Amino acid sequence: MSSTLRDIAPIGPTAAHPGLGLDDYQTVELLAAGLARMHLNRQHARKSLGPEDRIGTSGALPRAWRTAVTRLWWTGLAQLVDWPGDDLDVFAACRRPLDAWPIRLDLTEDDRGQVLLEGDDLSEFAEQSVALAGRQDVEAELVENRVFGLLMAAAQANGRTPEEIQAAYVALRLLLVHQPVLSDLDIIKRVRAMPAATPKGEPYVKDLVRAAYRFQPAPGTVTVRVCDSCGNPLTAPLVRCPVAGCPGQARALTMPTLEGYWVQNRATRRFHHDAGLVEDRLFQRSDALAAQLAEDDFPVRVTLERYPLMDTWDGSLRFTYGDGISECWLFDAKDTVSATLLGRCFSPPPEPEAARRFLVLAQHRATPAYRGDLERELHGRVRGITVIDETTFLRQAAQHARRLGGRA
Ligand SMILES: [Zn+2]
Repeated sequence: MSSTLRDIAPIGPTAAHPGLGLDDYQTVELLAAGLARMHLNRQHARKSLGPEDRIGTSGALPRAWRTAVTRLWWTGLAQLVDWPGDDLDVFAACRRPLDAWPIRLDLTEDDRGQVLLEGDDLSEFAEQSVALAGRQDVEAELVENRVFGLLMAAAQANGRTPEEIQAAYVALRLLLVHQPVLSDLDIIKRVRAMPAATPKGEPYVKDLVRAAYRFQPAPGTVTVRVCDSCGNPLTAPLVRCPVAGCPGQARALTMPTLEGYWVQNRATRRFHHDAGLVEDRLFQRSDALAAQLAEDDFPVRVTLERYPLMDTWDGSLRFTYGDGISECWLFDAKDTVSATLLGRCFSPPPEPEAARRFLVLAQHRATPAYRGDLERELHGRVRGITVIDETTFLRQAAQHARRLGGRA
């Protein structure tokens, strides 16, 4: 995951510069954070009070939302547009693409085509904006962050050495990527392999599953319609998988169960499963490269480490040759809707030492326009990072191994 979080303090317009110089990406981030806060409030209300409110139609409005609406009002004033009249105008606009709003926002062309709300749910664009900006008022409560915390806790409790903890982390992290649907029998096996329990006596692994998945009763056996490539459940009549970049189609998955099975909740699916697919493709193809070199008895060996240093980076490739000489490449893989939001928030960790560092883009995102928007945001702020697509990254890794082999 390793999304680098950065808090952006809201900047209010000043009387001296009404509506001028406002950063429209910050306004969008504030709107998304406000919507996320309302969504959480609605979930709390559902638990404690019963009938839910539709998003944003009652209760005190979050500060991020109020700041955003004020900023929109100043922008409207500067553009001589009498909008928004009230909060409901903005709620209605959140369901329309940003380029259909009465005021013009200074966003890239790709981002102008995005919506913030799909029905009553945050869009992928809005959710990623909240996660990337790392707003403190919602961050701690987001399901994906709770899942991340429980993943760390489960790994730490199930290892005695740093290597064991790292191995437990990778196993659980990949569980979320490989198994969006799980039989309760699978969980029993996992708990046997990782039995550490919380002070309340509950296995950590079970806590993690409860936070990341929903239970569905189905004693004995169950057949679920899933994507044959990424494994996400697919509800009929969907035949092709809707996940961006996934080539999969519907197939029937039959599992034996004890009492039922578990299905990932939406936040876990989006932030841990779907976002992890590009990482997993890189892992599998790096392993294939390593196996090929070993099979050819090539003088250079490549070893892949998944999520090194507890997910500081998504992966590292180590090229070893000669008398134990080695060189390390680090990579972070991203599948983010908005190149600009990614570029604004990407801060590569300085550790560990490496010959090269890469930001690898999911192939389906890496259009020339996307790369242009991303590189513009990174320019002058982030140094020593190569932006590259999946296929080119793996080709360069193979070429590099061969080049080193020529020297060995
Ligand atoms: Zn799929």
